Parts: sequence; structure tokens; C-alpha cells
Amino acid sequence: MQKSNSDEKQPIRIKAICKADDTHKYCYKLIDGKCIETVLIKRKDGATACLSTQVGCPVRCIFCKSGRNGFIRNLSPSEIVQQIYLLQEKVSRIVFMGIGEPLFNYENLIEAIHILRDRSGIDFPTDGITVSTVGPVDQLKKLREEHLKIQLTISLHATNQHDRNTIIPGMRRCDIFEVVASALSYAQRHNRKIVIAYLLLPGINDKPSDAQQLVNWFRGKNVMINLLEYNQTGNSGVTKPSKQEMAEFKHRLEKFGLEVRIRESRGKSINAACGQLAAKYGKAGHRQ
Ligand code: SF4
Repeated sequence: MQKSNSDEKQPIRIKAICKADDTHKYCYKLIDGKCIETVLIKRKDGATACLSTQVGCPVRCIFCKSGRNGFIRNLSPSEIVQQIYLLQEKVSRIVFMGIGEPLFNYENLIEAIHILRDRSGIDFPTDGITVSTVGPVDQLKKLREEHLKIQLTISLHATNQHDRNTIIPGMRRCDIFEVVASALSYAQRHNRKIVIAYLLLPGINDKPSDAQQLVNWFRGKNVMINLLEYNQTGNSGVTKPSKQEMAEFKHRLEKFGLEVRIRESRGKSINAACGQLAAKYGKAGHRQ
């Protein structure tokens, strides 16, 4: 692990960097002493930076350490953008998928995206920016009307309200059918494929009826399903699916024409997934 000698007076500075294979995790210390994580994933076609938007998170997903640490505060536009400037690598894609729910920090998120896209700044291509969200409906509707053309990923993780309330307690007030309708409306208005992230949790959301509901919603739509493998983070009470369970659920969806890919979690070997790095240095968390 590298430790940084950054100036203590900087509003955001590198506290530590953990490197393992193709995943680098930066722990940033903010001016008020709080810590956040930024993850850099290196692939053959370029590096993806996974940025945080809040310190802690109010959504409390059962599989995520952020939920257990609770919400502390929103990041400012500057704190969001600085996460990119301080990375020691060239970045090809930006994903708002780190600590926090980006659409719960809506105004600062949108301002940060405008700064990142600014031609007199780093001029980051809009196509390379993805917002990953649990889908608060009012904010999704606002995002639909923005002239941004960013990519959208919805962390759905369930096919009925009861299961979603269990998996994502902070979204109890949002009707799952409205979340899906708003996501599809975004895809239609911006004429682009959206991603539905679905973390497969054995015994919870992997029933044949779950597969059937996903088919009902998304068959023939401009949607890609990302089946996510759970990244075990201690006593979450949730178990990891076997390779066979992942493959079987994928097959159930593909049989009806859905586009599906399996995404494996990264960074296990540096014990830094899901908020573990930031949690080691201060209060924070990170999405699965
Ligand atoms: S997965 Fe994302 S939305 Fe859920 S608690 Fe973690 S950071 Fe918050």
C-alpha cells in the first residue's frame, strides 16, 4: 500500500492507494477529516473511474457497507471532480457508482458533470459518463429532461416491492413499477440502451418468477441486464451465488431474448470492496 505525502491543507487529498491486479482503490481524505473511496478499474480498452458522490449513504442496501455506516453528507461539485484530477492514471470512462446515491445529491452531481464536460477543462466525453442509481423516481424524471445524454444504470436487484424493500430499504417510498417505467422512459427519450443491474442473491431474488418478471418488463426494450456477483463483505447475512446459479438465471433470461452479461466483482484481493478501504480510514462506504 502506498501512503501519500499530499499537502494537509488540500480540500481533498490522497490518504492511501491499494493496488491489486487491475483494480486500484484510492482513499481520499476530505477537509473535514471524512474519507471517501474512488476505484480505478483497468481494462484493455482503458481505465474506468468509479466516483463517490456522498460521504456514507442513506439507502442502506443490505449487501453494502455504506448502508451500515449511514449517511454523513453530500460531496460538493469540487470534491466530486477532484477525485478524477488526483488519479495517477488516464481515465477513459467515469461511473458514478462509488459511495453514496448520486441522484440524492442531484444538483452537485449535475454541476460536476458539466465541469467534467467543459471544453476549457478536461473536456470529458459525455458518452463516457454513467450514472448508476437505485432510481429515485422524481430525480429520474428530472434527469430525463437534462440535455446531457449520459449513460444510465439502474440498480434494480428485485422484481417486486416486498423484496426490493428488504434489499434496498432506503427506497421503500419508490414504487418499483414506477422506477422501471421511468428508466424505460429515459432510454426512449435519449434513444440509448440502459443497463439494469441485478445482484443475484440466492434464496431472495433468484426465483423463476423473478426471471419471468424481468422478461415481462424488458423483452424487446433497449436494455442490457448486468447480473452481478455478490462481493462477500463479512456479516451481511447474504450469501454469494455459485457459478452454476449465475449461469442458470442468465439462461432463463436469454431464453426469452434478453441481453444479459455476468459481471464479476473486482478488488477482492485487496479487501477493499464495498467501503472496506474508506471504512478503514474513516466513516464511509461504497456500493457493490
Ligand atoms: S449500494 Fe449504493 S445506494 Fe446502496 S447503500 Fe451502497 S452506496 Fe448506497
